[in-house]
Amino acid sequence: MTDIAAVVRAFDFVARKHVAQRRKGKNEEPYINHLIEVAHLLAEATNGADTALVMAGALHDVIEDTDVTADELTASFGAEITALVLEVTDDKSLSYAERKRRQIETAPLISARAKLIKLADKTSNLRSLVASPPKLWDGARRREYARWSREVAVHCFGLNAMLDRVFEEAYRAAAKQAGLEAA
Ligand code: ZN
Repeated sequence: MTDIAAVVRAFDFVARKHVAQRRKGKNEEPYINHLIEVAHLLAEATNGADTALVMAGALHDVIEDTDVTADELTASFGAEITALVLEVTDDKSLSYAERKRRQIETAPLISARAKLIKLADKTSNLRSLVASPPKLWDGARRREYARWSREVAVHCFGLNAMLDRVFEEAYRAAAKQAGLEAA
């Protein structure tokens, strides 16, 4: 299979699996917008040189947020991509607070490519926070989310200059909007 066919197959897969999901922002964007943005950031950051990384970017939430299992993902996309997705998958049996805490703890330990996915994911989420904040989130909640995002992201810096830059831009915009002094 060519690279372009493989990437499009990943998007077709996630479009089906996340079909009923929406982003939690006030505009309730289709979930796939987030997956496309993450994959796009990764494709640009690596000049399209790492097809598996772009595919893992498209697939990064499919185990965490749908009923797809690691075995099913391996059968469809292989062990390498599944391992990358698992590195950025939260354990949903844990509480929200515990999952957030663990992300800070594990970010320094994951592989370099998983760190790139994490940085692209956090960038997309902070951009969404600015463009379409969740209805029920007040300034304090948005500040806390921006601060936490950066606590995770700093462990992923230094690998890709473009991703470092776009994350910092997204962070500054989110921090400013939430009334937090940007670092
Ligand atoms: Zn995500």
